[in-house]
Amino acid sequence: MFKSSVKMLPRLSVKFNKSRPFLTHKYTTFSRPVSATAALRATAAQPPPQEPTVPSKVHLPVSNIDNRKVVVGFENREWGRYHHIWLRDHCRCPHCYHPVTKQRLVNTFEIPRDVKPVKVESKPEGLEVIWPSGQSSLPHTSLYPWSWLRYNSYDPPLHRREAPEKILWGSKIQQSPPTVSYDDVMAEDDQGLFKWVSQVDKFGFCFVSGVPTTPEATEELVKRIGFIRETQYGKFWEFTADQSKGDTAYTNIALGAHTDNTYFTDPCGLQLFHLLSHTDGSGGSTLLVDGFYVASLLKELHPTAYEILTRVGIPSHAAGEVDSIYTPTPQGTYPILREINGEVIQVRWNNDDRSVMNNLAPAELEEWYEAIRLWHKFITSEDSEYWVQLSPGTAVVVDNHRVLHGRSAFTGKRRMCGAYVGVDEYRSKLAVLRERFAPDPVSADTASFATVNGRSIWSPSL
Ligand SMILES: [Zn+2]
Repeated sequence: MFKSSVKMLPRLSVKFNKSRPFLTHKYTTFSRPVSATAALRATAAQPPPQEPTVPSKVHLPVSNIDNRKVVVGFENREWGRYHHIWLRDHCRCPHCYHPVTKQRLVNTFEIPRDVKPVKVESKPEGLEVIWPSGQSSLPHTSLYPWSWLRYNSYDPPLHRREAPEKILWGSKIQQSPPTVSYDDVMAEDDQGLFKWVSQVDKFGFCFVSGVPTTPEATEELVKRIGFIRETQYGKFWEFTADQSKGDTAYTNIALGAHTDNTYFTDPCGLQLFHLLSHTDGSGGSTLLVDGFYVASLLKELHPTAYEILTRVGIPSHAAGEVDSIYTPTPQGTYPILREINGEVIQVRWNNDDRSVMNNLAPAELEEWYEAIRLWHKFITSEDSEYWVQLSPGTAVVVDNHRVLHGRSAFTGKRRMCGAYVGVDEYRSKLAVLRERFAPDPVSADTASFATVNGRSIWSPSL
């Protein structure tokens, strides 16, 4: 049920179509509760205001109960069913859920299998469920906001989860590549930072202009997203073509489009590069290729090859340093295109780091070579390749799970610096900034349940 909206760049028409929650609480006059219990107390003490303060067209969802489930009739004749055990397990009163740490406190295994509410009631702020007293417990009241119930409905799922839009691109991206300024990104209000990580989410890369040409300033820039992920190449790295590490990145030869860390179980999420200087020579253009774009073309034009690339695992290694041999766990192979529910969610490709292909069925071997030949043809086509000559002062951050990077050969002395950020740190920063600057409808609707750290206990992330 997780469907992301994907657009191709040439047909660019950005639209933000956030579905409104089905019910807003504009009409409630309750004071802001600080916790679910306080909300319940407020509810008990203050009955919903009588008309005329309640607009006549507002109808509360209908709630009903059978032996195993509570049935909720939302507007538009949508019905959602919720098992009693599920509701009890998801109570978010302060006894059952820690309002600050956002961790479950209820002992799930003490809930009787046949737990059944004594009563359910539709309240303006949500579904109120009263549970019977147990052997050692008093009656217990739960309240579930309507928007949260609909968002998390599963019988049937009523909410279509739309991932934020991604824009797939080819070489035409050169006309207006996503760019933010260093000053904006570093500004304390975090708006520029939000724009930066949002652009990375949408395009898979983003330039930062006006960066001071020092490793220190570049490191500060990376750390705006999250802490740096240390690897065998170090933490914050700086390289020249001195072969100080056993990797072709540390030479001046051309590097075809690839993703980094194909030999890791969890390849780094983001990579930031910054060219600090290039003297006494030329060349060294940066190459970016949108792996999701290429995958979408391949899927449309060569579905059989595409299917092989999503299925056949590629053994990979990094073993150029004497003290390390990296191979992915657990089985040692991951496919070039990782799909979930029919959508590519991760690209891994570095032909140089490929190990022995001893995992192919004999009948499929030639077919597999044909499939990677097509993949190679597509990622090296003029339509896919975006070449850019970076100059000192412009850094670029690349989503290493989506966009392939490379460079042309160069002469002279080139000083690059940069760092990796783990995918989880990047996604966490994006989630926190979205919560702040572009809250989802459920968080916005349940904002009154936010506690000291400003996060609603009903946030869809929890
Ligand atoms: Zn509870």
